[in-house]
Amino acid sequence: MTTNDTFHDAELKMLGEIWSSPALWPTMRVLCDDCNGRFVASDDERRAAAYIRDQLAQYGLTDAHTEEFPVRGWRRGEAQLTVNGVRLVCIGLPGTPPCDLQAPLVDLGIGEPADFTRVGEAARGKVALVLGKGSHRLEKYARAVQAGCVGFLFSNAEVGTLPPTGSLGFGGQPAPIPGAGIAYESYLRIGRMLQAGEQTAHLHMDAEAFPATGLNVIADIPGSDPAAGVLMACAHYDGHDIAQGAIDNASGTAAVMEAARALMVVRDQLKLGVRIALWSGEEVGMVGSSAYARTHLNELAQVKLVFNCDIVGNPGTLFIGLSGYDTDRVADAMRKLAGKEYDVNVVGGTTIPYSDHFSFGLRGVPALMAATGGPKYPHLGPHTYGDTLDKVDLRALRSSAAFTARVLLHLSHDPEPLPARHATADEVQEVLRKAGYEDLLKAQNRWIF
Ligand SMILES: [Zn+2]
Repeated sequence: MTTNDTFHDAELKMLGEIWSSPALWPTMRVLCDDCNGRFVASDDERRAAAYIRDQLAQYGLTDAHTEEFPVRGWRRGEAQLTVNGVRLVCIGLPGTPPCDLQAPLVDLGIGEPADFTRVGEAARGKVALVLGKGSHRLEKYARAVQAGCVGFLFSNAEVGTLPPTGSLGFGGQPAPIPGAGIAYESYLRIGRMLQAGEQTAHLHMDAEAFPATGLNVIADIPGSDPAAGVLMACAHYDGHDIAQGAIDNASGTAAVMEAARALMVVRDQLKLGVRIALWSGEEVGMVGSSAYARTHLNELAQVKLVFNCDIVGNPGTLFIGLSGYDTDRVADAMRKLAGKEYDVNVVGGTTIPYSDHFSFGLRGVPALMAATGGPKYPHLGPHTYGDTLDKVDLRALRSSAAFTARVLLHLSHDPEPLPARHATADEVQEVLRKAGYEDLLKAQNRWIF
């Protein structure tokens, strides 16, 4: 057999492993049913970390271990919202301080800069009502804080959507004003009330913050040429405390674990090593991955590409958003691998400042985020009570794991399409400025330059 035939055989063997193995669903069951939401620094998180570490060790990976990082722990209590005497269901957004607050409401639309300009000084001292469309929740929250609002009510823009959760703090900083998630129906109702005149919100929330630690899980698949560097495949295994975090992100965790298991079967084909990393603390501001990037700074030069799976169990197109210097060839290589068999959309030159790949993208490492669209039940999605195991599309998840494994196998075996170097700090800053993220990152203490 030629070298090509040997490689082709190995690839088929690896794909057969993924498509015929019964491992994927039990992994999802343990992560979701035994470990619940795996909220950072909780007992559920500890149990999940130990399970992931032991599984990776059982698959034969080298040096499977956990690494501790400091984080601001948080526990929710009761939350009550009353507007004009009407009690509306709400939930505290993680990181929110406790409060007993009475203040007028102000409708800030979708919370974009133009909305805040329109309202101007009238937002000061009021509770911001904001709809989740356009920019990220954290950007809207930062704007509300800057505008002098005293509270933040947030709704997703989807009929039937449950009150969403989602953290307010970044990098373990305390959140300056209380924030709560409300149902879209409540959002619309408050909007109708506001048409009739000024309305006062009464928001009462119990919550507790405490110093704590989170756990990342790290393991290696060594390649034949240690000097050639490593590929990093990663996902955050932590989720929110109100559901199982099945889609976000037991799905990514299981896909990366499954890719790792299958790559072990063909490890004699790997030239570059593959480092497997399952992060915690993503949902409270990518705390685990940024701690890793900080504490392993001198190893980052060896990392040739970060492949981050965040939400890969929906049945729609697998979107791959790639950032970094000189990434055209690797984007093309992934498009070729996808062919017609995989429903994949590779987009280069994108900056997605949320999720863990960005902890590395910030430091110039070529990094991508893989995420599936087309959720079966959009109104029961991530960050709601509806993010449970039954929402996961197993076939899509298997396909995501298979594509992840194929990309890693091909790039490890033949690293030619990988970027020639990392982006410099100046290049990264220029990209972030052009994308309009500088102010936001500075407001959130994430501007590392
Ligand atoms: Zn996520």
